[in-house]
Amino acid sequence: MTDTTTRLLIIGPPGAGKGTQAAQIAERFGVPAISTGDIFRANIKGGTPLGQQVQAIIESGELVPDSLTNEIVADRLNQADAAAGFLLDGYPRNVEQVHALDGMLDGESLDAVVLLEADVDAVVARLLKRAELEGRADDTEEVIRHRQDIYAEQTAPLVKLFSERGILVTVDGLGTVEEVAARIATGLDAQLSAKAGR
Ligand code: AMP
Repeated sequence: MTDTTTRLLIIGPPGAGKGTQAAQIAERFGVPAISTGDIFRANIKGGTPLGQQVQAIIESGELVPDSLTNEIVADRLNQADAAAGFLLDGYPRNVEQVHALDGMLDGESLDAVVLLEADVDAVVARLLKRAELEGRADDTEEVIRHRQDIYAEQTAPLVKLFSERGILVTVDGLGTVEEVAARIATGLDAQLSAKAGR
């Protein structure tokens, strides 16, 4: 049986440049980039009930409860444009969410997980600069560091899990957007052709 779907995930610390790379990967594979952070931010901006529910949580740097986040992703993956595959960005973020996603995919696992590696001090500096440039007064150093701590505690352990599943592609996130995109493309092609040959 030929499986023509491409199910991807990009993971890495906040500020590593996931969103920028996600857009490029999604375009290359012709799949939608699905970012839970973007979905939450759009709802906050639009003043929807969901936005009102999550605004304070997001501003504090905490994670939105799993039950709510899982439901949003399940709905999004059920939409027609995700039938041929997708690139998840920012989800799953903890072990509970990995199990929820496994259930949604119904035995059809992810094909590859791109880990975008970045140094904590470098990403904190980048995020502080962005907060200043974009006038994000809520993104204080304290909140930015708190998000890094949550990543280290809850999300970083997932790397081992995906590595054990044989689907991890580790990429150095340091460099220009083009340099990093080229590394991701090479790593993903190798991973996906190895999987196709199995
Ligand atoms: P991001 O843009 O992915 O860094 O997400 C911004 C914020 O949205 C995070 O700091 C969390 O508060 C919330 N968020 C995004 N994705 C998730 C998720 N998978 N689980 C829980 N909260 C999330």
